[in-house]
Amino acid sequence: MHSKVLIIGSGPAGYTAAIYAARAMLSPTLVQGLQPGGQLTITTDVENYPGYGDVIQGPWLMEQMETQAKNVGTNIINDMIKSVDFENRPFTAVSENGDTYTADSIIISTGAQARWLGLDSEQKFQGYGVSACATCDGFFFKDREVVVVGGGNSAVEEALFLTSFASKVHLVHRRDTLRAEKILQDRLLNHAKINCIWNNQLDEIYGEDSPPNVQGVKLKSTLDGSITDLKVDGVFIAIGHDPATQIFKGKVEMDDEGYIITKPDSTVTSVEGVYAAGDVKDKTFRQAVTAAGMGCMAALEAEKYISGLE
Ligand code: NAP
Repeated sequence: MHSKVLIIGSGPAGYTAAIYAARAMLSPTLVQGLQPGGQLTITTDVENYPGYGDVIQGPWLMEQMETQAKNVGTNIINDMIKSVDFENRPFTAVSENGDTYTADSIIISTGAQARWLGLDSEQKFQGYGVSACATCDGFFFKDREVVVVGGGNSAVEEALFLTSFASKVHLVHRRDTLRAEKILQDRLLNHAKINCIWNNQLDEIYGEDSPPNVQGVKLKSTLDGSITDLKVDGVFIAIGHDPATQIFKGKVEMDDEGYIITKPDSTVTSVEGVYAAGDVKDKTFRQAVTAAGMGCMAALEAEKYISGLE
């Protein structure tokens, strides 16, 4: 199957790239991947995606993006790309179903995944008081008590951000030294609303089952294993993200953490004709709206590249 533009990944970046490429008459193919719709399909309320006066649901928003991409002429395929060849032209991508896709240009929008602790209770309350994104969900915890887990830049930034809403923010870290930059540490340690709990791991999240609702957490000391109880209404896990770039290793330039490197103010990667958009190249903003913006940029850049070829 040959396309002028092959889009790999189906989050806001991928669908937006598809909408723009389709409207440029490039008849793009989009291969969705394992979790069609991406990270927004595991959230509930979305209030920060512009264009909607009322609260919308993450899965619904992604369905709408898929429908829009399809309606303007994207060939959407429910499959998973497992290997790519960027050395020969046209580019090729082979899927789990055994299909081979060839393309003049490729847009990588495979996203990233928040790391989770792996607790059953964490999964049970995900979207119902447990979140991996304070920017997305902090607003729902106005005058409530919350806990943030982690000791890196993300955890400290999330804790500081949450002080605008929450009455109290507890930061739980498994050691007694933060990994975050010194300036962020200073802000955290001097903030009246933040309480740091050192040498502890989150052991369990508990609450009501129906409707799901977090009421507190059990913390386990990493020094002596003792358990303590903390009453909170929300839990923010901020222990890092992993970009979904495994299949592109050695094929495009990446940083030490596996994020794809693009030229400044652009989605151009180290391979001419290959573009990267969204969380797969962004560890700073990680928002649906910024990913969508980058998807638009990637399609416009791919269009320019293809018209050059023609
Ligand atoms: P990170 O730097 O890898 O930090 C992850 C934190 O989570 C660490 O403190 C780690 O503990 C803890 N952790 C990991 N697994 C855990 C587990 N299973 N249980 C409990 N704690 C666990 O991740 P990040 O904060 O998301 O940052 C990722 C990258 O993005 C970094 O390069 C960061 O500088 C960058 N970033 C930059 C900014 C900014 O410049 N404003 C903002 C956000 C992120 P240990 O310390 O014990 O390992």
